[in-house]
Amino acid sequence: SLGITWVRDWVTESARVVAEHRVELITLDREIGDGDHGENLDRGFSAVMAKLGDLPPDAVPGDALKLVATTLISTVGGASGPLLGTAYLKASVAVGKEPELDGAALVAMLTAARDGAVLRGKAEVGDKTMIDSWTPAVDAAAAALADGRNEVEILQAAADAAAAGAESTEPLIAHKGRASYLGERAIGHRDPGAQSSALIIRAAADTAA
Ligand code: ADP
Ligand code: MG
Ligand code: MG
Repeated sequence: SLGITWVRDWVTESARVVAEHRVELITLDREIGDGDHGENLDRGFSAVMAKLGDLPPDAVPGDALKLVATTLISTVGGASGPLLGTAYLKASVAVGKEPELDGAALVAMLTAARDGAVLRGKAEVGDKTMIDSWTPAVDAAAAALADGRNEVEILQAAADAAAAGAESTEPLIAHKGRASYLGERAIGHRDPGAQSSALIIRAAADTAA
């Protein structure tokens, strides 16, 4: 099972990959948005990293997820802050005070995160948003759990599905967010929020392995 050490590693790796892909995310958002997505997330995760050390030694996964939530909500300008913030907040509620997360808890955590982003943004699969990464990831994780896969395999299945989900946004017209103003001009461009969520979900798998 995966505990606070994994959540810390996941958050740290998320901050690293967001920084590494900052320019790529800016470029994607420049094509169909306002060009700030990489900057927004990098600012948010840098703020998270500055606070991660303040967690008490007896912190549980839900405490770290809640810290990410409140920090992203307060530091990320733009649509993605409240959306991802709500996702982490609902994820923290889903895992409760549990010190160790088994496969079922991981699926519940991912499901709650996706549901939080849907609650906040009302997007459906196919709207060309981060939900196009999150929902396939949740579905793949649930299927892997039902197949008797272990925690690492569940997260890897989620990460693979999220990556495919991000790619699947390329031919779509957007129905939510700034890209929806572009109509058919959004076709051929990958959604930046779907790409960043795929990176974050990949970070979860990479740090569990
Ligand atoms: P902003 O558009 O305010 O500049 P960001 O650039 O940080 O914010 O984030 C843009 C991303 O947010 C989009 O690529 C998309 O994935 C996501 N997004 C926007 N609106 C919604 C929504 N209603 N539901 C889900 N995701 C959304
Ligand atoms: Mg933007
Ligand atoms: Mg913006």
